[in-house]
Amino acid sequence: MARFHNFSAGPAALPDLVIRRMAEELPDWQGLGSSVMEVSHRGKDFVKLQETLLAKWRALFAIPQEYELITLSGGATAQFATIPLNLAAGKRTAAYLISGHWSRKAAQLAESCLQVAVAHDAGAQPTTIAAPTQWRVDPAAAYFHYCHNETVDGLAFADAPTREEAQGLPIVTDISSCIGGYELDFTKWDLAYACAQKNLGIAGVTLVVIHRDLLRRAPQPSCPSVLNYGAQLKAGSLLNTPVTFALYVCDLVCDWMQEQGGVAKLGEVNRQKAQLLYAVIDASEGFYTAPIAAPHRSIMNVVFDLANKDLVAEFLRQSEDEGLLYLKGHRARGGMRASIYNGVDVKAVTDLVAFMRAFARRYA
Ligand code: PMP
Repeated sequence: MARFHNFSAGPAALPDLVIRRMAEELPDWQGLGSSVMEVSHRGKDFVKLQETLLAKWRALFAIPQEYELITLSGGATAQFATIPLNLAAGKRTAAYLISGHWSRKAAQLAESCLQVAVAHDAGAQPTTIAAPTQWRVDPAAAYFHYCHNETVDGLAFADAPTREEAQGLPIVTDISSCIGGYELDFTKWDLAYACAQKNLGIAGVTLVVIHRDLLRRAPQPSCPSVLNYGAQLKAGSLLNTPVTFALYVCDLVCDWMQEQGGVAKLGEVNRQKAQLLYAVIDASEGFYTAPIAAPHRSIMNVVFDLANKDLVAEFLRQSEDEGLLYLKGHRARGGMRASIYNGVDVKAVTDLVAFMRAFARRYA
């Protein structure tokens, strides 16, 4: 297989082994004489895949029994609007911490349902997050929302906000770009959600992990059943036709993660990969800069700039020529970004590091 190093933020690199298995199994899934894409989502084989996947995820991510898992479609963006529909509970406001591109988007979409009370806004090009003592969390809000890892900005929370910092409100978090990449403590949250096209699998699937207590909240009367967490849970996430192939890929990726030694082991490798990249940036004497303050540096999305902005296009052109793909920063931000999810192996990162060193030597 000729495969390049893929540093895309998502859809992102899948492990080679998963691609191979998918190709092998494609024409005849489980001896059924058809591909997984062609079987009924209500047939016993697919229902079993779905149920097994949720059980595997629960074990792999150490999700406690008090939480339910639901799979939906529409990506994390659909959740931005679905969350207030389910959790507003007749309250006027919801508290949003804005630490980058995606939490800002989440707040914007929530506004169609309730009033957003901004707890803190880290600004258009965030570099850090103010101390919780400086947040203004509306204690009457329906919930407190934040993004655990901002994919565009490369800004992450090392620890989830505490219950006190969130004024005792239910804590809702977007973990799209960090779930599976390192260990996360779900007990810190009441609802966590993620799209799948980073560490979990491919685009289409959205995972919602919700505490049972939160499921008792009556959704807004305007919440359609297909977006209603309680109704979807009751129907086994099968109220409508799910994204069957994407769920199948998630299952393969789940097995692969287990084979690698689980999330703790993957986290070790990912920390090592991030460390290699931040080290070359920090040692470059200002040729490269990483804008995010050290305690908030993401280990999944390494965002960096060139002091000489005129060199960005050249960096991207030459890196692409070397088979190091999709290093261009998000269109909302510019600069460069290396997303180093589970599917990106250490060799890809060491090749990128070697390229960055050589590029700096050439142009410094
Ligand atoms: N939240 C985060 C943290 C993301 O990284 C993304 C996608 N890159 C989204 C939300 C939006 O996800 P989707 O495109 O699947 O709706």
